[in-house]
Amino acid sequence: MDSFRHKKSLGQNFIKDINIVKKIVDSALIDKNTLVIEIGPGEGVMSELIVSSAKYTIMYEIDERLIDTLDKKLCGYDNYKIINNDFLKEDVVREIEKYKYDKLYVVSNLPYYITTPIVEKFIDDGIIPDKLVLMMQKEVALRYSASVNTKDYGSLTVILNYFYDIEKLFDVSRKVFNPQPNVDSAVIEMKKRLITKEVFDIGFFKKFVRDCFLHKRKNIKNNLKKYDLEVVSRVLNKYGFDLNVRAEALSLDIFIEIVNELGSCN
Ligand code: SAM
Repeated sequence: MDSFRHKKSLGQNFIKDINIVKKIVDSALIDKNTLVIEIGPGEGVMSELIVSSAKYTIMYEIDERLIDTLDKKLCGYDNYKIINNDFLKEDVVREIEKYKYDKLYVVSNLPYYITTPIVEKFIDDGIIPDKLVLMMQKEVALRYSASVNTKDYGSLTVILNYFYDIEKLFDVSRKVFNPQPNVDSAVIEMKKRLITKEVFDIGFFKKFVRDCFLHKRKNIKNNLKKYDLEVVSRVLNKYGFDLNVRAEALSLDIFIEIVNELGSCN
């Protein structure tokens, strides 16, 4: 589709290097028991590889101009569905209920302007896929996969790492896209993790973690003025910290324990 006019507003940077496409899809290890969701299939450069490996594939593409091209590309298959709408507005829970499958994967080169809303939608909808293999802006990938005590470690790192084991798989140069974006990219793998220490109230957990990182340079005491600091302090002391610590020094387990203690004191 040489004449296709890419819409910057929809994050339409299509991959032109088939080797990168193969590397992404191969790393997902899709099999015939897997239901795959692809968000933003575009011209379908990844879709055919996904559809041919999966049990069934649901694609969400907002741009109506791409639907015919996609259908033509996939004409030899009957194990897919294209939903021509904004993924963020879709009832994904209701959609996936229609299928029988062993594993749910999400494999996508995401529209970068809504990477985090897409990833958060799954959590907010109560869907934790077994695996997500996602291409995104490198900077965002580094935040998702950051380790404690690094500059990229933030509220999103903590919240996402509660649900998933996250690993950056490889970097992707901006040169493999058409049109070329202003940023480099990376592919990450997010695998559903076994939760051994459970958070009692996810909504409260998300709010509390965000508040801890509100002003990154401030310590916990200053960011958490509206919380019961005695409870926070008691848990921190157990781990050798006090209220002067910054949120970036605290591991997921400590956040979970503080949140559960605060919750049970209300
Ligand atoms: N998968 C293709 C590729 O790798 O070449 C296209 C990826 S491109 C980065 C992002 C795609 O997401 C575009 O096709 C765009 O139209 C689509 N898109 C943007 N916003 C969307 C939304 N809210 N819901 C569904 N698709 C969306």
